Amino acid sequence: SDGPDDMPPEIWEKVKNHPCYSEEAHHHYARMHVAVAPACNIQCNYCNRKYDCSNESRPGVVSQKLTPDQAVKKVLTVASEIPQMTVLGIAGPGDALANPKKTFETFRQLQEKAPDIKLCLSTNGLALPDYVDEICRYNIDHVTITINMVDPAVGEKIYPWIYWDHRRITGYEAAKILHERQMLGLEMLTARGVLTKINSVLIPGINDQHLMEVNREVKKRGAFLHNIMPLISEAEHGTHFGLTGQRGPSAQELKEVQDACAGGANLMRHCRQCRADAVGLLGEDRSDEFTLDKIEEME
Ligand code: SF4
Ligand code: SF4
Repeated sequence: SDGPDDMPPEIWEKVKNHPCYSEEAHHHYARMHVAVAPACNIQCNYCNRKYDCSNESRPGVVSQKLTPDQAVKKVLTVASEIPQMTVLGIAGPGDALANPKKTFETFRQLQEKAPDIKLCLSTNGLALPDYVDEICRYNIDHVTITINMVDPAVGEKIYPWIYWDHRRITGYEAAKILHERQMLGLEMLTARGVLTKINSVLIPGINDQHLMEVNREVKKRGAFLHNIMPLISEAEHGTHFGLTGQRGPSAQELKEVQDACAGGANLMRHCRQCRADAVGLLGEDRSDEFTLDKIEEME
């Protein structure tokens, strides 16, 4: 369940009006994403770089990329039009922390100009340990990390390369570094009291049997929520980078994996895989009402 009774008050304060962290809140509160983060520092085999980061965004729609100044303007406009808008996230279209200048400049301005809006970001975790201080400096209460494996042997089937420490690293070594950075980043956030949501993309035949172990490992390190989301298969959305012919899971397969994780880290079951420029209540997309030219007109 999700309510004040089974949570310490300081945690409840952070989740009660966040539509992704509280199933109840998602009926009443809206979130928006601004697409200020185009670059990525890893390659996922399921990524379709033409579209938003498949970390959490439904591919198939290209988000309008914004500079930090444009993003801030957009957020302030939306906040005045949609009073239930409580949360601003940076979730791509690449990786929020592979674009640290743009990401943190947006947060810095917003913290100053709209201190009531809660801030959150999504990342693949590779750069996370380097930015925990900065995340805390801007009072970013919520961080989503996409963790698809806790075993580099599984990881090397998902990630062909990472770019880290000024070089491109491939194979088992790449997956091992990514895994270690994800676990370290998660532990550091937990130690600082930042709430974390773990996204796992369920890829049939690759990590379906493995996600229970992911659930156990992230729970052990203090993850607040685990969101197991289906791979959206390429047929509808063009070719993924390295998973030609890979299908997505059926609804039944997804439910089986989620059920197998019951009793572990709390599962989020109401994620809508929003796009990197989503605006509105979950399941409602009002991004078309707030394109840059429309915002100009509103002024
Ligand atoms: Fe694509 Fe993966 Fe980078 Fe997201 S984290 S933009 S899915 S390569
Ligand atoms: Fe929330 Fe999922 Fe949408 Fe992210 S993608 S804003 S977690 S519903």
